[in-house]
Amino acid sequence: MIGLRTSDNCYAICQNPSTSFSSSLVCGSSKIESIDLWHRRLGHLNYRDLMKVANIEVIKGIPKLGKPSNPICGPCQKGKQTRSTHKRVDEVLTSKPLELLHMDLMGPMRTESLGGKKYILVMVDDYSRYAWVAFLRDKSEAFINFKDIGLKIQNEKGHPIERIRSDRGREFDNSNFFEFCHSLGIKHEFSAPRTPQQNGVVERKNRVLQEMARTMLNQHELPTHFWAEAINTDCYTSNRTHMRPHTRKTCYELWKGKKPSVKYFRVFGSRCYVLKDHENLGKFESKSEEGIFLGYSSKIRAYRVYILSSKCMVESINVIVDDIGSRSRKCDDDRIDVSKDIEVIEEKSKDEKLSEDEEKKDEQGKKGDRGRIEPSKKNKSRQAEDRSLPTNQGLGHRVLKAFATPSDHA
Ligand SMILES: [Zn+2]
Repeated sequence: MIGLRTSDNCYAICQNPSTSFSSSLVCGSSKIESIDLWHRRLGHLNYRDLMKVANIEVIKGIPKLGKPSNPICGPCQKGKQTRSTHKRVDEVLTSKPLELLHMDLMGPMRTESLGGKKYILVMVDDYSRYAWVAFLRDKSEAFINFKDIGLKIQNEKGHPIERIRSDRGREFDNSNFFEFCHSLGIKHEFSAPRTPQQNGVVERKNRVLQEMARTMLNQHELPTHFWAEAINTDCYTSNRTHMRPHTRKTCYELWKGKKPSVKYFRVFGSRCYVLKDHENLGKFESKSEEGIFLGYSSKIRAYRVYILSSKCMVESINVIVDDIGSRSRKCDDDRIDVSKDIEVIEEKSKDEKLSEDEEKKDEQGKKGDRGRIEPSKKNKSRQAEDRSLPTNQGLGHRVLKAFATPSDHA
C-alpha cells in the first residue's frame, strides 16, 4: 500500500503501486481529512467551534474546512466525559485587560511531571479570558509564580493589575500576597469558602485544561508524566482558539490586539524529527534525531520536542512533525519554514518588542543561521544547576528542563 499526494495537498491511499488512481481507492477528500486534522491540531476543539472560528476568520492559518467524516472522536469521548457538568461562565465583569485576574491552584497530580512538578497555578484575565499557567513542586511556590507572571503582564500591558480573585487557600491567603498586593495597590478579593461558583471563570478554565490534556495524552497514548507539557500546550492553544463570550474575537486578539495565527500548529504527541547540528555530524551519522512533538516555546520561535534517544527536552526550529501519518516518504516539502510560520510564537515583553522594520531587518540578517539557537547565559546556569537531567550538547539546540523554572509558562 502506498500514499499518493494529490494536487490539493490530500494524501490518498492506493492498495499497490501499479493500481491506477481510481476514485474508488481515494481515501476521503482533502476537506474531510483536514477538518479532522485541524480538530486534533487545535487541541480537540469541538467541531462546532472549529467551524465557527474558521468561517468567521477570527484565526489566521486555517484552510477551508468541510464537514467532519465522523463527528465522534475517540480521544474526545475518553477525555471529555465530564463536559456536561460545567457551564460556560458568560458574565464578563470588566471593561479592560488586567482589571481583574482570577487565579486558582490545581493539584496535587498523581504523577509528577517530567520536571518534577505536582501543581498548576492557573491565572485568567477576566476581560480577555487569556490564561497563563505555571507548574509548581509545592503549593508554597504559588506566590513567586504569581509575582513572576503578574509583573511580566503588567509590563506587557503598561498598566497595573487592579484586582485579583482567589479562594482562601493558604497558598493565596498569606503575608507574601498581602505585602505584594499592598505595595502595588492591588485589591485581593477572596471567594467565600465552599462556593467555587464565585471563582467560576478559573474553575471552568481548570476543567477545560484538564480535559484537553487528558484527550491529547490519550490520542497518542503518551505516558502521564507528560501532563505538564500537555497542559501548557492546551493553554497556548485555547488562548488562540477560544472566543470570549459575546464577542467575535479570540482571547488572544482581546489581549494582544491582533488575530492569532495557527498555521504552524501540529498534533501534540506526534512523532517528529529534529535536524542535528551539521558541524558536529560524522559522515555516516543520521541527520536527525527522532522525538515526540510536545508543543510550542513561549519564549522563542520554536517547537518543544522530547528527544527519544537522549530523553531530554529541546526547543528547536528545525523540526519536521509527522502528524498526518499516511504520507509518502518522498513528500518532504512540508518541512516547517519557521521564518514564515512561527511568527507569533514569541511572546515579547514590551521592552524587547522590535518595530516592524527592525524585525524584518533582523530576519534577513539571521536567515543564514536559523538552525542554531545559542543558549543564553541564564539557560547555561540553569542546566548547570540541574545535574540529574541529561544534556544534549551535540544537537546544537536549546536544551532545557521540562517546566522546571517558574518562568516557563505560556
Ligand atoms: Zn477529538
